[in-house]
Amino acid sequence: MAVKTFGIIGAGQMGNGIALVAAYPGGLNVILNDIADQFVEKGLDTIAKNLDRLVAKNKLTAEQKAEILGRIRKSTNLEDMKDADFVVEAAVEKEDLKLNIFRKLDEICPPGVILATNTSSIPITKIAGATRRPELVIGMHFMNPVPVMKLVEIIRGLATSQETYDTTEALSKQFGKIPVECNDFPGFISNRILMPMINEAVYALFEGVGTPKAIDDIMMLGMNHPMGPLALADLIGLDTCYAIMDVLHKGFGDSKYRPCPLLKKYVDAGYLGRKSGRGFYDYSK
Ligand code: NAD
Repeated sequence: MAVKTFGIIGAGQMGNGIALVAAYPGGLNVILNDIADQFVEKGLDTIAKNLDRLVAKNKLTAEQKAEILGRIRKSTNLEDMKDADFVVEAAVEKEDLKLNIFRKLDEICPPGVILATNTSSIPITKIAGATRRPELVIGMHFMNPVPVMKLVEIIRGLATSQETYDTTEALSKQFGKIPVECNDFPGFISNRILMPMINEAVYALFEGVGTPKAIDDIMMLGMNHPMGPLALADLIGLDTCYAIMDVLHKGFGDSKYRPCPLLKKYVDAGYLGRKSGRGFYDYSK
């Protein structure tokens, strides 16, 4: 099916980034959905600011910016996805919530429409099992920040068809990204490797091995990482990091993946990182 209209569930940091690349350079019409107007507006505001940067660099004209924004339709009703030719879900990393969204999307979306998920860790096969179209369900895992990062990790569920894979791969390229294929195991490849490193950095903080700055400086200066693991955790969102560790821990049943108690404590306190103004660092100013 030729994709002209691209639906996105969740207008948070990932959803609004995906909306931007689908509209530009992707060239598609976009429907951006969240549970309340304020979240959709916040997402659109971020998209507009990202486009402003391109205008300031003379990569886009003000008219092009307006045309791109004009192709993004706001939605707070999941039923609007009946008009989408391809849907990607980027709501919060909670299994029950995602299964529920996929059950509803399966009812709403016409036959043949691919239902993708941007989940960081939840098994694609399980999400597909909530629908009657498992061959059309796939993982389309963008990296944060979406407009900047090149990778899309594409994850096949047990029943994902080759046609679904090919369409998802082609769309990723159309959005200016580089797709890399992987199989369906907890955390896929990216978060199976990244998240235990972040969790270990939180343990180092928890056990008093060093300050957040010392831990991050050592990883940046010593390992050439562009960002320290604690600063990266704040960028990703500590709720998302905790949810991914929980999926790895339960999925593999191996204690080496146990989430650090300090990570849990921060999430319980509402210290979610940049998005809440406080995580391992203070962003309130
Ligand atoms: P976020 O907290 O910034 O945004 C999540 C959005 O989902 C919020 O705006 C929330 O209102 C919305 N939402 C919640 N329930 C919803 C529902 N029922 N219907 C529609 N919208 C709903 O989170 P995020 O960082 O954008 O993460 C979104 C997804 O992307 C998660 O599955 C996460 O694991 C994944 N992901 C995150 C990163 C990252 O670095 N943050 C990277 C790759 C993938």
